[in-house]
Amino acid sequence: MSIEVKTHTALHIVKGAIVKVLGADAKWSTSAGIDGAHGRIAVEYPRKPTPEQLAQIQTKVDMKIAEDAAIETYTMTRKEAEQRLGDWIYDKFPLPETIQTVTIFHLPDWNVNACIKKHTKTTGEIGKIRITKTRYRNSKQVLEVSYDIEE
Ligand SMILES: [Zn+2]
Repeated sequence: MSIEVKTHTALHIVKGAIVKVLGADAKWSTSAGIDGAHGRIAVEYPRKPTPEQLAQIQTKVDMKIAEDAAIETYTMTRKEAEQRLGDWIYDKFPLPETIQTVTIFHLPDWNVNACIKKHTKTTGEIGKIRITKTRYRNSKQVLEVSYDIEE
């Protein structure tokens, strides 16, 4: 399995941990990207997280990896996905209206997102996700979290 699959899947794990710690105020991802073993995700959030909250994000990530939880993906119409899962399937910039069938990434009780990329079958396959940097941009009200995958 390529490192990119692990690094990409880790985006969903980190995003889920951010929302677990900071709540639904942090539900909108504004950007996400990977480069080899490095990943970065940014979410809207209205205030600077405390150091304790930031530390908790790493703790939650570690917990979810240790669980080796099964990752599910399924395909359904966009309408059905919206009815069943709500706007949680979207990021800050919704899918073009022309896309009427979506593939859903689903890690139960953690993260659900319309995503067509390849994923690991379980969280444990990712290996260690080490958060290397967090930065809160007051002007944009955006929290950025960077991480490395360690094999
Ligand atoms: Zn994905």
